[in-house]
Amino acid sequence: MKTVNHWIGGKTVEGTSGNYGEVTDPATGAVTTRVAFASPDEVDTAVAAAKDAYRTWRDSSLSARTAVLFRYHALLDAHRDEIAALITAEHGKVHSDALGEVARGLEIVELACGITTQLKGELSTQVSNRVDVSSIRQPLGVVAGITPFNFPAMVPMWMFPLAVACGNTFVLKPSEKDPSAANLLAELAAEAGLPDGVLNVLHGDRVAVDALLNHPDVAAVSFVGSTPIARHIHATASANGKRVQALGGAKNHMLVLPDADLDAAADAAVSAAYGSAGERCMAISAVVAVGAIGDELVARIKERAGKIKIGPGTDPASEMGPLITAAHRDKVASYVTGAAAQGAEVVLDGTGFTVEGFEDGHWIGLSLLDHVSTDSDAYKDEIFGPVLCVLRVETYEEGVALMNASPYGNGTAIFTRDGGAARRFQLEIEAGMVGVNVPIPVPVGYHSFGGWKDSLFGDHHIYGNDGVHFYTRGKVTTTRWPDPADAPAGVDLGFPR
Ligand code: NAD
Repeated sequence: MKTVNHWIGGKTVEGTSGNYGEVTDPATGAVTTRVAFASPDEVDTAVAAAKDAYRTWRDSSLSARTAVLFRYHALLDAHRDEIAALITAEHGKVHSDALGEVARGLEIVELACGITTQLKGELSTQVSNRVDVSSIRQPLGVVAGITPFNFPAMVPMWMFPLAVACGNTFVLKPSEKDPSAANLLAELAAEAGLPDGVLNVLHGDRVAVDALLNHPDVAAVSFVGSTPIARHIHATASANGKRVQALGGAKNHMLVLPDADLDAAADAAVSAAYGSAGERCMAISAVVAVGAIGDELVARIKERAGKIKIGPGTDPASEMGPLITAAHRDKVASYVTGAAAQGAEVVLDGTGFTVEGFEDGHWIGLSLLDHVSTDSDAYKDEIFGPVLCVLRVETYEEGVALMNASPYGNGTAIFTRDGGAARRFQLEIEAGMVGVNVPIPVPVGYHSFGGWKDSLFGDHHIYGNDGVHFYTRGKVTTTRWPDPADAPAGVDLGFPR
């Protein structure tokens, strides 16, 4: 069996805690790998390596940093397939989707290659007699990143490329469910010339996370994962005086107005609800149909969903893979089996599905629940599986009120041909990322990603300008250089102007 160890100070470091987690191939159900779980002492070692590297990395020139990042981009580009294969083997998503994940992560490396522009300071001359004021941004120190299972390469790449480009050093604690991609990302960074200790990968569970949150040498924490853990990370890291951004879970709604192109809306709903088996924080999990279109929309979604081919992510014919664990599959199934008792009409029931020859895989088919009520469990919880709920409302106003009552506010979308309605929606909806006829509006790298309400704790979104701000702190210098001909200004006890 393969063992995934830590990557500390530019080399593989074997785990010493004696604790390991099991990594499963979701398509076969077989345990393929064990992953070392770090003890607090091992967390100390990783943070010490990052702190040591920070002493020189923070003073490295911008051109030295971008030279590494350009080489890193080229190496990642050359290894896309290999990274995607590791993702598929441990997460289960289909290879084409895994390649998409790598591509979206690469966007942030591209952004980091342009850090020279992003870190340009500001200067105001002659703000007072012979006085100039300049603002610069400087790195924070050691930054920790804690990431979820559903994007084992992309979410880490949302964090560390920009953090190190800003002059910080980084300790990444990836999900223990699919840890291998993170090590390859770190090895390629070393090959690109990133100095030892600038990027470290420490594997583990909550023991490692809590040690990072309480470590005095960790200056900031970037977290992406579920809402309850995001809340814990934000509260603990903040209480310890750290800067923290904690992105949480979601329940993303898609509002379909009566004038929408129903074929386009149905295509979008199926793609966004069932892509990556619904294990995306930006997946559409609730469609809100306005007016009389509900029956027709549900019929078109059902017809399309029935054609999706489910199978191992390594099979190019598969469009949707298995879920991450058997336990998660059973939890997802429980929402479908319990839906009818809570008033929903089960249009498609994906429970009990299996794939011939892969009977021990974590399979579930596509489920579609209609007439879902807002007080049912299937609506209230983030299911994180291929289950789409449809809710019916009479008016646009009723739809927006329903959506704004959700505790989550990650992504959302409106489908309509009416520009005025779309504009109003963009202003009225309480969510951080809005799509107009776009079901999964994940912002491009140079715009920041983040939700509202229980989908994000902290005040910085991730990557883009917010990312640069999160990973740096401002410093303002006020300078007076008297002209050689000036007489001394003399003592003045008045308020400086
Ligand atoms: P998770 O919260 O279970 O785990 C995320 C990370 O936290 C992992 O590294 C894990 O080891 C660690 N962790 C788990 N329990 C912990 C605890 N008790 N104390 C300290 N650390 C702990 O999330 P997941 O199941 O890996 O990922 C799926 C979730 O992530 C979904 O809720 C999804 O919506 C969310 N997500 C959000 C975004 C976003 O951008 N908002 C993006 C991707 C995923």
